[in-house]
Parts: sequence; C-alpha cells; structure tokens
Amino acid sequence: MHTFLQQLAGLIGPAHILTEPADTAPYTLDWRRRYQGAPLAVALPGSTAEVAELVKLCRAHQVAIVPQGGNTSTCGAATPDGSGRQLIVALRRLRQIRQIDTDNDTLTLDAGATLQEAQQAAEAAGRLFPLSLASQGSCQIGGNLSTNAGGVAVLRYGTMRELTLGLEVVLPDGRILSQLSGLRKDTTGLDLKQLFIGAEGQLGLITAATLKLFPQPAAHATAMVGVDGIETAIAWLNALRARFGDRLTAFEVIDRNCQQVLLRHHPKLMPFSAPWLVLIELSDGGDAALLNDSLVEWLSRRDMSDGVVAQNETERRKLWRLREEISESQRLDGPSIKHDIAVPTSALPALVNDCAAALEADFPGIRIVAFGHAGDGNLHYNVSYTRPGNVDLFDDEAAVNAIVYDHVYRLGGTLAAEHGVGQLKKDWLARYKDPVALALMRQLKQALDPDGLMNPGKWL
Ligand SMILES: Cc1cc2nc3c(=O)[nH]c(=O)nc-3n(C[C@H](O)[C@H](O)[C@H](O)COP(=O)(O)OP(=O)(O)OC[C@H]3O[C@@H](n4cnc5c(N)ncnc54)[C@H](O)[C@@H]3O)c2cc1C
Repeated sequence: MHTFLQQLAGLIGPAHILTEPADTAPYTLDWRRRYQGAPLAVALPGSTAEVAELVKLCRAHQVAIVPQGGNTSTCGAATPDGSGRQLIVALRRLRQIRQIDTDNDTLTLDAGATLQEAQQAAEAAGRLFPLSLASQGSCQIGGNLSTNAGGVAVLRYGTMRELTLGLEVVLPDGRILSQLSGLRKDTTGLDLKQLFIGAEGQLGLITAATLKLFPQPAAHATAMVGVDGIETAIAWLNALRARFGDRLTAFEVIDRNCQQVLLRHHPKLMPFSAPWLVLIELSDGGDAALLNDSLVEWLSRRDMSDGVVAQNETERRKLWRLREEISESQRLDGPSIKHDIAVPTSALPALVNDCAAALEADFPGIRIVAFGHAGDGNLHYNVSYTRPGNVDLFDDEAAVNAIVYDHVYRLGGTLAAEHGVGQLKKDWLARYKDPVALALMRQLKQALDPDGLMNPGKWL
C-alpha cells in the first residue's frame, strides 16, 4: 500500500492525499452518524484527467474506490467499510462552472460543485436550476446524480434524472465517457447516462454534467394550511392540479407529530396545529398579486382549520424554513427508524392509515413522524417509541421495517424514493426488488466493473 500511496501522490500531489485520522474524520462518518468507516486514505483529485489516472492506478493495485460528494447520504452510501483498504475519492476540488448556455438553457459544470453553487450560477445568468433540497449547501452535483435526488420541486420539474442532459464519467477501467453535448433529442443508441444516474457510485465516477435550465419564475404564491387528514390533503392535491396545472410547483405535508417536533426545536417558527399541514406553492412567469389572489380565492372555498398565505418574500421564506428545518429538528429529537418511501399518490391515505394501525398493534405506544413530498407520493416516515423502557428502538428495526415495507410494496411503492439504498437498505432491496431487474443490474455491474472496485459493500 505504501507504493500505491507514493504513486498516487505522484499523480495528484501529496497535499491532496489525506491519511491522518484528524484529516480524514469528516469523510469517514455518515451524516446520521450511523456508519463509521476506516479508509486507506482520502484522495482529492483536481481534474477529470487526474480522476482517470487515479482510477487506472487503483485498478492496477486492486484498490477499491468509494466516491464521495458532500457526504450527506442518509443511508451510508458514501462511507467506506472498516478494512482500511478502501480509498475515498472526494471530488470537492472539481467545482468549476464550465459553461452556461442561455441560448440553449443548459449549465455544464464539474460534479464537485455543490447544488447551491449550481443554483447560484443559474440565477446569475437569469435562469433557474430547480433541484432544491435542505442539504443543498453541502451536497454536490455528483452526489445528486448518483442518488437521483428529488426534493421539493419534483412535482413541476422532475428528479435529477429528468434534469440531466449529459454526463462525463470516468469508467472503472479509467476510460472517460464524455457526453456533454446538451442535446434534448438523440436516438443514436442507448442513453448511457441513465446507467450512472442513481447508481450510487457503483458503476463509475461522474466528473461533470450538463443540466437543464428553466426561466426564473416571476411570481410565487405560497400557503401553509391545516387540513383534517391525509385524505383531504390528497383530494386537494388533485383539485390543485386540475385548477393550476404545472403552476403547482410544490405540495408538501407535515403530520401532527412532526409539527410537535418542530415546535420543540423552533417554537417561534411554529404557530400551526392541525392533524396535517399542507405547504402549497404555485409559481409562474406572470403577476405575483394575480397568482396570490387565485390561490387565496381557491382556498377560500375550502374547509381549512388553520393557515396562512405568504404576503411577501419574507413570509414565503419563513414558511419554507419550517419545512427545511424538519430533518435537523428530528436529528436533535433523538434516533428514529427512518423510511424514505413512495407510493402512487392515490395510495397515500391507505398507506398512512393502515401502516400506523399495523405498527401500533405490534408496538403499542409507537410514534410516527411523517412528512414529505406528498405531491410525488413520497413520505419520510420515521418511527420511534414514546413509551418508557423501549430505549433501544433499533432492536426492533427489522420488524418495524418489515411492516412498513410490506405495506409500501402491497400498494405498488418503493423503499427508496429519493435518498438511495446505500448500506442501510441493501438487504431490503434484495427482498423486494424484482429479481429479474436486480439480476440485470448485476450483469451490467459485472460488465463495467469486473473487479468490483467501485463502491463495494453497497447494494450491487
Ligand atoms: C438535511 C438533509 C435533507 C435532505 N433532503 C433531501 C431531499 O429532499 N431529497 C433528496 O433527494 N435527498 C435529500 N437528502 C439526501 C442527500 O442530501 C442527497 O441524497 C444528495 O443527493 C447526496 O449528495 P452528496 O453530494 O452529499 O452525496 P454523498 O452523500 O457524498 O454520496 C451519495 C452517493 O453518491 C455517490 N457519489 C457521490 N459523488 C459521486 C460522483 N461524483 N460520482 C459517482 N458517485 C458519486 C456516493 O458514492 C454515494 O453512493 C437530504 C439529506 C440531508 C442531510
């Protein structure tokens, strides 16, 4: 390994290889502090060419690579194992905005740029890059691509997969696949970029991407409204879609337990109380007052227990802050068994009601905190105990997961809507995923990475 590290230093410079525990620490523990890895080193290459040479060197020495972006994965996807033999390759030095093409509405940038940097670059050019996550200050474009990230504007703009026109990828043999043309149509064979989107770094290292840009919306209308149940929330979603079409940009829900978590950690932000809160946002290129009036008029014909329509940008940001603070407030609130699930939107009421009843029957006193992107059928569904004595909740994790995932799959859903599979859900994926689909994915992995050196120990 000494020779390997010496040769690596020759390729990317000794200053860009971290081996001291104090230096590697930020890269070895996952965001939820559930997985602690022990890497051989952390490598910080500075260009696509350096990444390609690094990958060839790793192959020659049979050193496994764990690609890492902002290390915000919630399922241990970017954490190495404890063997001390895996090399973390972090792309934070690759963060150039390569080109903004406003004639064709495309943004080409290095994969190590943060999502926020991508949004800011688009904004500076008078455009919108619409992917929006609470982790956007840290997560990187490469990580967003590799997890097919979603967030709060999928309803209108789609996931990262739908926002991507081209990729540059260093393959496991060190070749560079460069497809950054930005074409919106191209039927010359398979769309290879799709292989790497959502692959969680197991098929190659993404070094750059060409992304779609959109017009900046001139107007927003945003409301936080209390409703009496998830059934009403979904009925509203359908009615809003019918009335406003794709001007409906976000439709988020927050259940009562989640409101209480927010109240504990952000009492000043949290004036609401309802069985469910719905955060609605409309946007378009027209007049803000008109759009606001349309939403107010629509709401005035509904039965709502509590609610507010933002009257200006400050109020709008305050409503969004509530939504964005949920993950951190939950972290402060203590451990819970987390699920990132999705079902068809019409099945959300059945999921919420039936799953809660089944969990309560087997684990009396269980507490469910549910919130998320109901407009996409995606709930973050987090389970903990309220009764004393059950301190080690994770003893029951497998039984809790089986109840939740059985309900999800019975309703035609998925166990990983937008956060990926990583280490956390790999055994569950093997249980629920179509075996033909899994076998095909493994054949592709074998063809591209026969030595199994790209992010081993994850789900492929
Ligand atoms: C507070 C909070 C809120 C969140 N909200 C959302 C949300 O609303 N929607 C959502 O979708 N996710 C959300 N997430 C999850 C997470 O932020 C996303 O999955 C994000 O896309 C991960 O990006 P990252 O750069 O941190 O990737 P990492 O965590 O570093 O890595 C994730 C995976 O991508 C791989 N990878 C990283 N970079 C590359 C690369 N260049 N080439 C190949 N593989 C690579 C890694 O090996 C790993 O498998 C949230 C997380 C937090 C902490």
